[in-house]
Amino acid sequence: MSKQKRKRVVILGGGFGGVYAGKYLEKALGRRDDFEVVLVNKENYFVFQPMLPEVISGSIGLLDTVSPIRRLLPRTSLHVRDVESIDVANKTVTTSPGFRPHAHTIAYDYLVLALGNVTDFRGLRGLPEHAMPFKNLADAVQLRNHLIRALEEAAIEEDDPALRRQLLTFVIAGGGFSGVEVAAELNDFVREIARNYKGVDPRELRVVLVHSQNRILPELSEKLALFAQDILMRRGVEIRLNTRLEAATGEEAILAGGEKIPTRTLVSTVPSSPHPIIDGLDLPKGKNGRLITNSYLEVAGADGIWALGDCAQVPQHTGGFCPPTAQHALRQGRTVADNIVAAVRGGKRSEFTFGGLGQMGALGHHSAVAQIMGVNISGFLAWWIWRTIYLMKLPGWGRRLKVASSWTLDLLLPAELVELKLTGSMGITQEHFEPGEEVFHQGDLGDRIYIIVNGQAEVVREDGDLEVLLARLGAGEYFGEMALLKRSTRGATVRCTAPMDTLSLPKREFSMLASNLPQMRETLERVMEQRARSNAQKTGGA
Ligand SMILES: Cc1cc2nc3c(=O)[nH]c(=O)nc-3n(C[C@H](O)[C@H](O)[C@H](O)COP(=O)(O)OP(=O)(O)OC[C@H]3O[C@@H](n4cnc5c(N)ncnc54)[C@H](O)[C@@H]3O)c2cc1C
Repeated sequence: MSKQKRKRVVILGGGFGGVYAGKYLEKALGRRDDFEVVLVNKENYFVFQPMLPEVISGSIGLLDTVSPIRRLLPRTSLHVRDVESIDVANKTVTTSPGFRPHAHTIAYDYLVLALGNVTDFRGLRGLPEHAMPFKNLADAVQLRNHLIRALEEAAIEEDDPALRRQLLTFVIAGGGFSGVEVAAELNDFVREIARNYKGVDPRELRVVLVHSQNRILPELSEKLALFAQDILMRRGVEIRLNTRLEAATGEEAILAGGEKIPTRTLVSTVPSSPHPIIDGLDLPKGKNGRLITNSYLEVAGADGIWALGDCAQVPQHTGGFCPPTAQHALRQGRTVADNIVAAVRGGKRSEFTFGGLGQMGALGHHSAVAQIMGVNISGFLAWWIWRTIYLMKLPGWGRRLKVASSWTLDLLLPAELVELKLTGSMGITQEHFEPGEEVFHQGDLGDRIYIIVNGQAEVVREDGDLEVLLARLGAGEYFGEMALLKRSTRGATVRCTAPMDTLSLPKREFSMLASNLPQMRETLERVMEQRARSNAQKTGGA
């Protein structure tokens, strides 16, 4: 068959849906050459998401939850790029630039959409800046490092009890499977490693799971969910039901109703939102912005496009729609592959009829809950089944062997508490502050400069019991430069007066910019001198 006549199938997304669609397409290809498969994914690996929470405690190795897509799909052409846009009319996909900034366009005959969904904090005050999502390997590694960092800091923080409380309180929002598994692993991990920190009393640790409904794990029967709830509470997790996380700052999680939980660690597995690329497509969407498909997984109103997994609303043959789970996504991959082969070669299309095998969730410490084929199982047996099933589902015998040995060693060895510092720089960070909250206090060390994106703050100098207002600052203004330029401690306190978003640049990066951009340094020094003169007048020269 000539190359021109060969059809091109382009799969977007290398998760459960995309990789399994690719796997079955490769299988169908056999010795034939009538189509080629291209897969675009952000990373060159597939993530086994159900095991990600175990990365927190390190009970499995970092790389054990991922598999290189090139090995899984040897006959597929892999593009490790971000999908930027899809042109349905012209049947092309544009991906992000690589080493060269030119657009990269891939033409397709058949398109498979398997981009999953995203945790989207937009519109929630302070969450984009301060809440950690938990979806991919980077999130899991970042959370693990952050937990160790929090304990390291708490162990030597003797002067500030409020800060100790924040460092030793961990809040997780979302009581679905991923939130519950993260809470269980996190709780086990911090309580176990706390024993290594002489300066931390385990009784100071607080792990709070916030959930908006009247019970956690709404996917399971009430009996099993209550069992899970009971286990978590006995292990020290505080469960706050019928409670919504409303906002966050770097120092607290703010619940609907105004209650504030002091914390430096906020993980949120909610809200789950449609993928922005899917959201931008002019194709019919259903509940939660998922693409509407028929039972053949063909996207309604489009020719030659299939959707599956978390980004698709697939009808279930028993009624309703398929839940967003790995077990559905991977089986949908097979149906999509069968139907693409039918489109290329002619033949009967397959319907998606899988009804689900059940649900399982790990609760840490050798216990789990499971509902398999209608039977409720809990405790050690559920945990053993959970581990065996997931072990067998991992791609490749080598990986299964590695994970099985990690799990065995984990039963005998203490949890690892190495904090992997992989980046030399924090770069620009975004922060959100609520009224009354201090950005920094007079006398603190100068560690960064702030630019106000929106909101307001006041600058005050404390003189004994007196407080003198030095300035009010708003959007577009900056502060914090004095201590950096003069290499001194903060000369005043900056306090938020109206909800405020800031960008901040750490000292090291600021110094590099200031020393290499003389004009910028001169401007900053001029403003600093003006401010110092004005401050001196207001405080009578103090
Ligand atoms: C912590 C956690 C625990 C879970 N536990 C379970 C469980 O126990 N059992 C269960 O059945 N399910 C579980 N799930 C859900 C399950 O993992 C998902 O339903 C499943 O992964 C959906 O598959 P998918 O292919 O639709 O999406 P995903 O697996 O999320 O794959 C989407 C892929 O698209 C890629 N992508 C996204 N945007 C772009 C872009 N712009 N350009 C290029 N590539 C892009 C991503 O990198 C990713 O590889 C869990 C999920 C999480 C997060």
